[in-house]
Amino acid sequence: MLPEAEINRVLVVTAHPDDADFASAGSVALFVDRGVEVTYLLATDGDAGGNERTLDNSGMAALRRTEQLAAAKAVGVTDVRFLGYSDGQVVPSLDLRRDIARVIRQVRPDLVITHHPDRNYVFVAPSHPDHRAVGGAALDAVYPDARNPYAFPELVEEEGLEAWTVREVWLNGGSTPNHWVDITDAMDRKLAALQSHVSQVSHNEGFAEFVKSRFAAWAEQAGFPKGHYAEGFQVVPTA
Ligand SMILES: [Zn+2]
Repeated sequence: MLPEAEINRVLVVTAHPDDADFASAGSVALFVDRGVEVTYLLATDGDAGGNERTLDNSGMAALRRTEQLAAAKAVGVTDVRFLGYSDGQVVPSLDLRRDIARVIRQVRPDLVITHHPDRNYVFVAPSHPDHRAVGGAALDAVYPDARNPYAFPELVEEEGLEAWTVREVWLNGGSTPNHWVDITDAMDRKLAALQSHVSQVSHNEGFAEFVKSRFAAWAEQAGFPKGHYAEGFQVVPTA
């Protein structure tokens, strides 16, 4: 694994508003505490989400962007970018790979955090098709696209974006996590981030307790002491 001191920039690539907050906001808060620069990149605006809809899809997209900006701010992230793909219809296309590779070359992250591209047969919730598509496209963008100057040559020729090698990827939502982050000190901020997605969670009674029990169970699985919380990832070396 990359030594902590060598992680100075992190790019979190997700499908929808709130994905980063469920999967990695605690870890992100701890990175920000150490002075790491974190960027969020979202493939969609989450325009097909929500309950008791009174908004059309474009109204929902605008609302969910605003909620994601607030959620990011709750863990100290101010660089939030949206690609504008349609919620529920994301495929790991060449366009998506190029769009992610572009941001990798702009941000030049040491670490990328994204969705696991494989279906989780133990726990199905993280395996939304958009998640698997974004995770697959992000891994393809890490290797080979972003590091290969001859992949998407227009990025160099028209935008001056030189090749960049991401050294490590952390995947969330898979069935075989091998790295646990103790997020106990950041649990309040993670919860605040999640609760910023008012259109998604405000109808949900007992939401805070549900979230805490989920991440407490993972801390137990990680072998952390009672009363702790953890986020889990599969680490993929990509240097
Ligand atoms: Zn999602």
